[in-house]
Amino acid sequence: MNRIVVLGGAESGIGAAVLAKVKGFDVFLSDNGQIKEEYLQTLRQWDIPFEQGGHTAELILNADEVVKSPGIPATAPMVRRLTEQGTHIISEIEFAARYDTAKKICITGSNGKTTTTSIIHHMLVQAGLDAGLGGNIGKSYALQVATEHHDYYVLEISSFQLDNCYDFRPDIAIITNITPDHLDRYEYQMENYVKSKFRITRNLRPEDCFIFDSDDAITIEHLSKIVLQAKMLPFTQQGEVEQGAFLDGDKIVLRYEEDETDLYLKDLALGGKHNIYNSMAAALAAKATGIDSETIRRSLKTFQPIEHRLEPVLSIRDVLYINDSKATNVDSAWYALECQTRPVVWIVGGTDKGNDYSVLEELVRTKVKAIVCLGLDNRKIHEAFEGIVGADRMVDTHSAEEAVNESSRFAEPGDVVLLSPCCASFDLFRCYEDRGEKFKEAVRKL
Ligand code: ADP
Repeated sequence: MNRIVVLGGAESGIGAAVLAKVKGFDVFLSDNGQIKEEYLQTLRQWDIPFEQGGHTAELILNADEVVKSPGIPATAPMVRRLTEQGTHIISEIEFAARYDTAKKICITGSNGKTTTTSIIHHMLVQAGLDAGLGGNIGKSYALQVATEHHDYYVLEISSFQLDNCYDFRPDIAIITNITPDHLDRYEYQMENYVKSKFRITRNLRPEDCFIFDSDDAITIEHLSKIVLQAKMLPFTQQGEVEQGAFLDGDKIVLRYEEDETDLYLKDLALGGKHNIYNSMAAALAAKATGIDSETIRRSLKTFQPIEHRLEPVLSIRDVLYINDSKATNVDSAWYALECQTRPVVWIVGGTDKGNDYSVLEELVRTKVKAIVCLGLDNRKIHEAFEGIVGADRMVDTHSAEEAVNESSRFAEPGDVVLLSPCCASFDLFRCYEDRGEKFKEAVRKL
């Protein structure tokens, strides 16, 4: 095998191309759209042939293997042609893992991936271990394998990245939870999405660990249909487990092999029920890596909240503005509303991914005093909540600035203005980070 074609010239594609080059392949990268300047520079620096603004079939169909970027769906015309002619298509993660012998802790799930991944990485670093952080966060895994050396990797892996994994095997696999998301990429079949997440477990061996949320009905249902050889480490807030993590009053109890460790909730840097789950998953991964309890406690205490995830921005006239722009689905917004203790002016909306808002009704009834819609098409949100908050307490806005101004009109001292949009951002913004930045800018201008 000699020719590797990489489809997509963003973070993962560029990393895969550099790794292919380092490993001596005849590599070519093709992107249908425009490649960002920083990535163009990397391609030139490594002398990697590429094209942008379209795909040239003759330069792609002759590949021995194709590395497809996660943003490109299996239904894209060029991917279809490759599939029809039987070309093997893999993800950047699958490709990079072939050249990496480090221990890998890999995290997937619908929500909490970035938070859990970042906490685990923080724990490994605190324990003095040499750990790379990558996958869906920061620098791609492939680029790190090509240009750095680490003893451990902590990798956040999306379902799109798992779709084209075959032999990839983590040492510790985590599924944080599974709730409906991205169903547009899975033929609107939940089963397909669940199977995609579970690909992270397919090569686990008896000495590997699988860490999962046993309060999550979808995870448990799927587990009842498959056989896993790995050590099973559930985490739960609803009962006790023999091995794994559970809640006992004001503390988390970790049980791993013979060891039992208590972690007091008051010592966790991150608040909210969802972060108790994330902290449990992270602590179990650290235990299974052999990290001592004291380092786990210290890491959970010193962890710095991540931008755009329930990030407190400013308090103005005793109204607290919170940026949760990363809440791009119903479940994450559920947790954001759930942990609020003050009346909420809720900024919601964007590109709907087939949301079912009914699960939020009860929380909206008890916590939300006004709704500011921030999206091009807000009809579904009005239909879902007008009967609860009242039509006079809902407005439509089309920019972050307008949304913040309208929110400040509804808000009274003691309230919270919460941007937790439940939706993707692409109708009005470049990405969720852009939405969060613009929100923060508008708050600072108030
Ligand atoms: P991901 O990387 O899976 O998108 P993040 O850690 O970036 O997850 O968090 C995304 C959003 O989901 C944020 O709004 C965050 O507050 C919320 N969230 C974080 N952890 C969880 C969890 N375990 N369950 C539900 N929502 C969560």
